[in-house]
Parts: sequence; C-alpha cells; structure tokens
Amino acid sequence: MDFSFNQEQREWQMKARQFAEEQIRPISLARDRIADAASTWDWDIIKKGSKLGFRTLGVPKAWGGPGADLVTQCIVMAELARGDSAISKAFSQNWKWSQLIAVVCTKDQQERFLKPFLADDTYMLGGARTEPNVGSDHRMTPNSDPKTGFRLKAERDGDHWILNGEKTFIANGSVGKLFFVSARTDFKVPVTEGSTEFIVPTDTPGFRIGKKFNKAGWRFYQNAELIFENARIPHTNIVGEVNGGWKARTSDPSQFNDLELAANAVGVCDAAVEAIMVFVKKPGRGGRTPADQQRVQLKLAEMHMLTESLRAYIMRTAWERDLACAGDKVQAASANAGLVMVYSQEVIQRVTALNRDVRGSARGVMNASADKLERDAFIWTHLAGDSLSRIKTIKKMLR
Ligand SMILES: Cc1cc2nc3c(=O)[nH]c(=O)nc-3n(C[C@H](O)[C@H](O)[C@H](O)COP(=O)(O)OP(=O)(O)OC[C@H]3O[C@@H](n4cnc5c(N)ncnc54)[C@H](O)[C@@H]3O)c2cc1C
Repeated sequence: MDFSFNQEQREWQMKARQFAEEQIRPISLARDRIADAASTWDWDIIKKGSKLGFRTLGVPKAWGGPGADLVTQCIVMAELARGDSAISKAFSQNWKWSQLIAVVCTKDQQERFLKPFLADDTYMLGGARTEPNVGSDHRMTPNSDPKTGFRLKAERDGDHWILNGEKTFIANGSVGKLFFVSARTDFKVPVTEGSTEFIVPTDTPGFRIGKKFNKAGWRFYQNAELIFENARIPHTNIVGEVNGGWKARTSDPSQFNDLELAANAVGVCDAAVEAIMVFVKKPGRGGRTPADQQRVQLKLAEMHMLTESLRAYIMRTAWERDLACAGDKVQAASANAGLVMVYSQEVIQRVTALNRDVRGSARGVMNASADKLERDAFIWTHLAGDSLSRIKTIKKMLR
C-alpha cells in the first residue's frame, strides 16, 4: 500500500500550507476577536485565496477549474484549517456546490452559474435546508411522515415558482451570490418525495437576508437567515425534476459535505498539536519542561494518535469517494463519509481540550489561541445535523 501523495497533490499541499502560514494565520485571531459577527468577514483574504484556486478547487478541468480530486481537496482543506478552520470552510463551502452544478445541473444552468462563479473572486455559494423548526430531522427524517422535514413552500405560477418561508443558519448567508434552496412542492407526501431544489441568486425579487448569527466559534464564517417573501424563481432554475429535490441533492457521489468537515477537523488538530509542542518545551517549574513529565507525555501521545488516526481515516474515505465518483458501486455504498465526520467531532473536541489541559493551572487563564481552537471545535456538534442522528449513517451497512 502506497500512502504517498502524487506530484499535483504535493504542489497543492505546499501552496495551501504557505497561504495558511503567510496570509491566514496573521489575521486569524484578530478577525475572531471582532465583536460584531457581521464584521469578521474579510474579502481581501477571499480574493487572494481565490486567485490561487482555493475558491474554485472542486470545479472540473473541463469547465476551466482546477479539477482537484477529493484526496487533494481534503489535503488543501486541512492545510488551510491549520491556519484558521473558519476561513478554510468559507473556501470549501464553494467546492461542494460548484461540484453539484458540474455533476447534476443542466448545460444551460452550468453556463449561467458556473461561468460567473469561475470569473468572479467574490462569487460565493451556499445551500439552505435548515429552518427554525427543522434541523437534524431532515437528515434522518422519519421518511413516512409528511409532517416532518422543511416547510419552505414553493408554488407554481406559469414559468415561475413563488417561494415563501425562511431558512436559518445558512453558511455564506450574508456574503453568498447563489444558493441551493430546498423547498416543499407537495405537502401530502414525505419530504423525500415532495421537495424540489431551487437555484436562487441573491438578486431574486422577494428574497432577502435576515439575522446574522453571532457564533461562539467559527466567527469568520457567516451564518444568516434567508427570507423568502413571494420570491420569484424561474422554472429553469430547478435542479433535476419537480419533487425530485431529494434525489438531486444526494446524487453527487462525492459526499463531500461530510468529508470536508472531517478534513477541516484534522487541520484544527494539527494546529493544536503544533501549539502544545511549542508550549511543553518551554522551561516551567524548577527548570523542568512540561515535556519532562510522564503524564504530559501521555497526553501528547494521545493527541498525536487521535490526529493521525483521523487523518488516515479521512484519506482512506477520500480515496473511496474518488472511486465512487468514477463509478465504483462498491465504494459508492460505503458509510465511511458520514462515520468519519462523527469520528472527527470526537477527535477534534478531545484534542483541543487536551491542548488546554496540558497547560496545567495556566489552562484556566484566557489564551486566545487555545480558546479559539476549542470554540471552533464545539461547532462540530451541531454541524450538518446533530451527531446522534448522523451516526445513523450506519444503517447503510445494515442493508
Ligand atoms: C456553523 C454552522 C453552519 C451551518 N451551515 C448550514 C448551511 O449552510 N445550510 C443549512 O441548511 N444548515 C446549516 N447549519 C445548520 C445545521 O445543519 C443544523 O444546526 C443542524 O442540522 C442541527 O439542527 P438544529 O440546530 O435545528 O438542532 P436540532 O436538530 O433541533 O437538534 C437540537 C437538539 O435536539 C435533539 N434532537 C433533534 N431531533 C430530535 C428527535 N427527533 N428526538 C430527540 N432529540 C432530538 C438533538 O440531538 C440536539 O441535541 C449550520 C450550522 C452550523 C452550526
């Protein structure tokens, strides 16, 4: 078995590492400290990263994008996250949606949305499912009950659809130019059969941004409400078929929305391991360094083991998903993308907690870097569905 990266993957890794060290890290803590959550965003870092290909990484070469495979995307994600996981996520949020445009959308939609996305360094993408009363359950809905699942309503009006309702906590919400929005087009059947996926540009009449959320972690990343008040969407903006939204959204075999979160987590773990290795080598009480103490060594070993096992699981899963995207049916059925995300939540929270714990009594003192890593790590608990419901991905293996 060969664990080495190919030349292209190594080049992306080095480019991302350099960008994280020279551009992301120097602004990370300052951005995190800004009290107004809507002001933590920085277009300058987005534009610089975009010019290096980090915004468009997932766009296939046929469309003029970098066409990076999923292994490469995970490598880049982790490197950027070592600098700042929220900034890394702001970039990768575009990868999965541009991938969906490339894989699932019509030629006309690709022309209308992929081309401007590639041309504009500030063109950000997002996807909206969560609503004030609908969160985890749209991931593992009790499929038979039409009362569960999102309620945003879409009604046909000639060549258009009229959308009414609200989405909440939507990533890139206040900075995005285009959103994939899941709406209900038939309330009599379960959400899996009665929903449709709409492509909604932000200049759509009747569409506006609502509240922006003041999060404890990932403060750079913008989460906002999307409000639809008789929003008028052309029929040509439907992804797939009417009432085929569930299928459209799940027909991208990359399952990158789980994988990217795990890859981001390993970058945070790398940052925590790196920080603690500096700390433990500094002389402490009686001239001894914390690294001289066996109990500290045990904790360092645990941090390292967990980080490396997560990395191995991510890379194995990314390899599987690349094969699935190339048509491999065995790998397509793997449950690992969901499970590695669950594992990443446990690892990131343990490793960032140990980063604080090893600091002894100093751990009770405010430490901007350790605090940030822990606050960012907490975000994993409620990302993309509660982790308890996410672990039900295992049902794939029981079929
Ligand atoms: C940083 C961030 C970015 C996000 N980005 C997006 C985005 O871009 N697009 C988007 O659509 N959403 C996004 N979300 C929303 C995210 O998907 C939801 O937070 C997630 O699905 C959980 O839903 P919820 O917050 O409604 O919590 P809930 O699902 O309501 O869960 C709250 C608690 O209730 C429990 N619970 C839930 N259901 C049940 C049940 N049936 N029985 C017993 N207990 C239950 C859960 O275990 C949990 O402890 C984002 C969230 C975060 C934090």
